[in-house]
Amino acid sequence: MNFYDGELIRAAFLRRGWTEAEHPDAAQAVLFHTCAVRENAEERVHGLLGDLKRRKKSEPGVVVGVIGCMADRAGEDLFAREPHVDIVCGSRHFPRLPDFVDRVIGGEERVLALGDAEQRVDEEVRDLHGRDAGHQAHVAVMRGCDLNCTYCVVPRVRGRAESRPLAQILDEVRRLVDDGVTEVHLLGQTVDAYGRDLPAAERPDLARLMDAASAVEGLARIRLITLHPSYVTANLAAALARSPQFLRLLPLPMQSGSDRILRAMKRGYNAEMYRRRVALLRESMPDLELISDWIVGFPGETDEDFAATEAALREHGFLQSFVFQYSPRPGTAAFTALADDVPAAIKAQRNHRLLALQHEVARTRTPRSVGSISRMLLEQPSETQPGRWFGRIQNGHAALLPHRDGLRPGVLREVALHDWNGRELLARERAPQERIAAPRARPAAPVRGGLPELRLAPPTPPVVAFPV
Ligand code: SAH
Ligand code: SF4
Repeated sequence: MNFYDGELIRAAFLRRGWTEAEHPDAAQAVLFHTCAVRENAEERVHGLLGDLKRRKKSEPGVVVGVIGCMADRAGEDLFAREPHVDIVCGSRHFPRLPDFVDRVIGGEERVLALGDAEQRVDEEVRDLHGRDAGHQAHVAVMRGCDLNCTYCVVPRVRGRAESRPLAQILDEVRRLVDDGVTEVHLLGQTVDAYGRDLPAAERPDLARLMDAASAVEGLARIRLITLHPSYVTANLAAALARSPQFLRLLPLPMQSGSDRILRAMKRGYNAEMYRRRVALLRESMPDLELISDWIVGFPGETDEDFAATEAALREHGFLQSFVFQYSPRPGTAAFTALADDVPAAIKAQRNHRLLALQHEVARTRTPRSVGSISRMLLEQPSETQPGRWFGRIQNGHAALLPHRDGLRPGVLREVALHDWNGRELLARERAPQERIAAPRARPAAPVRGGLPELRLAPPTPPVVAFPV
């Protein structure tokens, strides 16, 4: 999301005649676009800000700003801790950044813009000039989050869920495709909650958005980032299964395999409910691959709780995991109510163990595609294997395809996967008689009973540097 917002910020500055510096040392304005999810991300920004102190002293005209979730979380305190900062701009105010920079250049001492803004950050028609060229593009479909996981600072800094109108998103996707894009990543903190906050009369959901985006001519692939298990429905599973463009590699963070810890996290599901959502998805997409985030060392996490997490990783056979050591964030329920009682050494050990297990599990999954036919989207020439293209097949596994004339990034090819080199699948172009087979059904756990409704609880660095 920060990369996407970075593109919007870049476009806003380019419109005003700014250009991008090669290096922050050459920039007249240095803006830190930040994350507040974990403490170490904030500490890195303080480190980088510290490096700028001397320059600001010798060149007071250099404008220094902190943008995004860290600005929202720390607010005015940032001026106190970092007196050489001129602008503190929250994640709902960045479209006005060029004005803020002008105001500081005009002599205003400090600019502070936090919390809700009068205007939404997503304009009706996005200026595409800030985007990196290439066949992949991000599209934010919603902002903020209506959940309240006890460890998480996102709802506090980014505010309540705000979905963009369906027509606006589709228009952006079409314009991107006209601009050469063939793969879009639809972004949201809980992208499967898309539409729930929109007026009832015109309320779309992610299933409808997937159907509509899949009908956009020229679009080869749609990736979703990130889903919350509680919003996964049979209707959504069916829409994903019928979309030929859907990348069957789904981030569905589980966070922990222990019911006790999930309850303390207030994730809104337990291990069995997570299992049922996965079954629902894999029933119609047996080749679906999953990605999870995990927090290790959550307050009170015992060896037994961690063992449940390891077991869950194995059971669901995740293809990738992002593992985070619990970081207490001021302003969250866990920070106030729960002691950060798992020693740092244990957190580090669990982190390491889980990643090692993930590596082991992933190595068993990729070779299962050998012998199948799939659609491969080319990304770039392989860095390690000259004469071959690197790309991803329909369910996200990396593959290599020999070069021939006419192949370029963003092109979709039907391929036969004939081998695995221990890292990537080896592909060749599909012969005319080979067909993409309906995925073999794998026995899935039966889905029993209704899916519980979620309780909605009331109400988070790239350096962007521009010289004149
Ligand atoms: N909306 C997404 C996640 C957003 S934050 C979801 O609900 O899945 C990205 C990841 O950072 C989270 O999935 C979680 O694993 C991690 N994270 C969030 N807060 C954290 C904290 N206080 N300490 C450690 N990791 C955290
Ligand atoms: Fe944070 Fe939970 Fe919302 Fe994800 S769902 S952004 S972890 S509060």
